[in-house]
Amino acid sequence: MPLVTPTEVYKQAMAQRFAIGAFNVNNMEAVQAIVEAAQEERAPVFIQVSQGAIRYAGLAYAAGLVKIAASLVDVPVILHLDHGTDFEQNVMCLRAGFTSLMYDGSKKPFEENVAITKRVVEIAHIVGIPVEAELGQVLQSTDGVSEEQVRAAMTDPDQAKLFIELTGADSLAVAIGSVHAMRSAEAELDIDRLRAIRAKVNVPLVLHGSSGVKEDSIREAIEHGICKINVATYLNQAFVQGLRETIEKMPYEPDYRKHLQVAREYVKERVREKIRLFGSNGRIDSTGGFVSPRTVHRAVDLGALE
Ligand SMILES: [Zn+2]
Repeated sequence: MPLVTPTEVYKQAMAQRFAIGAFNVNNMEAVQAIVEAAQEERAPVFIQVSQGAIRYAGLAYAAGLVKIAASLVDVPVILHLDHGTDFEQNVMCLRAGFTSLMYDGSKKPFEENVAITKRVVEIAHIVGIPVEAELGQVLQSTDGVSEEQVRAAMTDPDQAKLFIELTGADSLAVAIGSVHAMRSAEAELDIDRLRAIRAKVNVPLVLHGSSGVKEDSIREAIEHGICKINVATYLNQAFVQGLRETIEKMPYEPDYRKHLQVAREYVKERVREKIRLFGSNGRIDSTGGFVSPRTVHRAVDLGALE
């Protein structure tokens, strides 16, 4: 089906307490892995491109690949800009056909973050495209962060309420203890803070840096309002592991498809695993619509017995 906006998908996720996986891509193989996994799991899915992905693949390729991938499956696919750095880039993505945007002004002073987010929201809403914003900072593990720094950068619940009122942003990335690009899942989220934010803010909340978070903490976060979960590092690790293994096995094989197809399979397996963890599996029926909540529970129960 054609790309969709996240509006209906978020409504369902909020009402039924599951989260949609938002998977980062840099090339065709990763896009294929994600849509195939989503199709097999009957899950709605975000496919997102970061600044690095846009520099690597180019905006036109990134958008083109995801549009084609979406057209080949019958589950909802959302094309999302991850960490849009400025107003201009958001406009470029809007023109390229993205169905979901993000403006990340989290490193800027509050007033400036509000002002630019508001401008992006105003222009995106003209053509019905929702915007994710960020308040508080999800830091980068490559920068070597301490626990104190992570805590100091967390989202303030009262400020979050004001931020959403002032900007009209449709979803909010919150800093509750996760860190970008972590290589193992060790972090625990500040669930009390998440609950406090949820009590004051009524838009879907987004978790970045999920690769470094323990599974139980992820499940608890979904119970308390996280509706979109970004996954990048965990997939990148699988891609490289697949390449490394086949190159070790066949170091002189020039047909690179033999290496890339292993990498693609590894990514696909991890996407399926995350979709199940987030509870977005079995949500979409054969017509591409959402199944009723009762049917979902039955499907999940039956799945557990297999
Ligand atoms: Zn992020």
